[in-house]
Amino acid sequence: MKNKELHVSPKKAKSQARTVAFRSGERNVFFHILTGCNLACKHCYINREQHGTGQLGIDEIEEWLKIFVAPGKKTNLIILGGEPTLHPDLSRAIRSAKKLGYDVTVDSNGYLFHDLLEKVTPSELDFLSFSLDGPDPQVNDDIRGEGVFDTCVANIKKAVKNGFNVSVIYTVSRKNINHLHRMTELLTELEVNKFFIQVLGLRGNSAISEGEEVSQVAREEWLAVVPRVAEEAAAAGIHVTFPKVFLEEGEVFECAGNVAENYFIFPNGRVYKCPLCEDHPIHSYEICDNRLTALNGLTESSFFQLEIAEGCVMNKLLQPDTIEYDDDHNPVYRISCCLLKQEIKG
Ligand code: SF4
Ligand code: SF4
Repeated sequence: MKNKELHVSPKKAKSQARTVAFRSGERNVFFHILTGCNLACKHCYINREQHGTGQLGIDEIEEWLKIFVAPGKKTNLIILGGEPTLHPDLSRAIRSAKKLGYDVTVDSNGYLFHDLLEKVTPSELDFLSFSLDGPDPQVNDDIRGEGVFDTCVANIKKAVKNGFNVSVIYTVSRKNINHLHRMTELLTELEVNKFFIQVLGLRGNSAISEGEEVSQVAREEWLAVVPRVAEEAAAAGIHVTFPKVFLEEGEVFECAGNVAENYFIFPNGRVYKCPLCEDHPIHSYEICDNRLTALNGLTESSFFQLEIAEGCVMNKLLQPDTIEYDDDHNPVYRISCCLLKQEIKG
């Protein structure tokens, strides 16, 4: 009944979502401080063959944080893993990052090891983000593992009660898209007012389990469900961000690798500008002896220059099945940069 009351047509949802253009001068630093994790999610994107099994020491973390500081520019730091709270010095890393001027977010699977909530204050951490892939244990735990939903929800409640800004990330796959609409009720009950809907990337486990249930949804399904659910959540007062994925007629294609500053740092020193490239040794930079070096030769940056009718060139290379062609072999639509977002403020 509640869903029926909140229902809005897809047309209205589309008109209210705002595409968040890449902003020059704004930087995002995604810092994987380790690759280890206590969970084994079916769609895990971590590729230990490419990024190792290492964990950075706190001294290295602090040195590497200094590399990406840019005075006068707003820099969002997202600390992730693996599970970043497994790192015993995470609280010190957060404090060091704040001192350097970063806006700091930690992305956790919800286990919050090493008593994170007791070791940092809400003023030291801008956002604590929890991953939930279903509105109940049945849906979530089928993807993320037994008991994960209850632990995650208990820690969300604790974080909210302790005054932290909390957000939730939901990775949409064929396995859970039909349950996305039920997240609004859960988030409202948990008093979480920021919701990130992600598209499943074909990286890590997802790249090798294609064809199984935890796989990407088709364009029609995405467009029929995600914008409508985002609108419903916004109507309930939640700020929703979700990827654009499919460009509409007349919309300009831009590759973030060319027009934005995003860094995806791994503990083995690889630094990528594009997350779609992470399964391949084509990173743009490497950190050696605490110094950032731009790499020459065939790197992801070579691909950013290519202009193709399908939009994102890495998507065309790595996920060609996501594109449809007409009888003259022209793409029916273009795929946006995976980093292009839409948002609806509640
Ligand atoms: S997706 Fe995240 S929480 Fe799940 S196994 Fe991978 S690193 Fe761990
Ligand atoms: S996802 Fe595509 S468009 Fe975006 S940075 Fe990577 S190559 Fe460029």
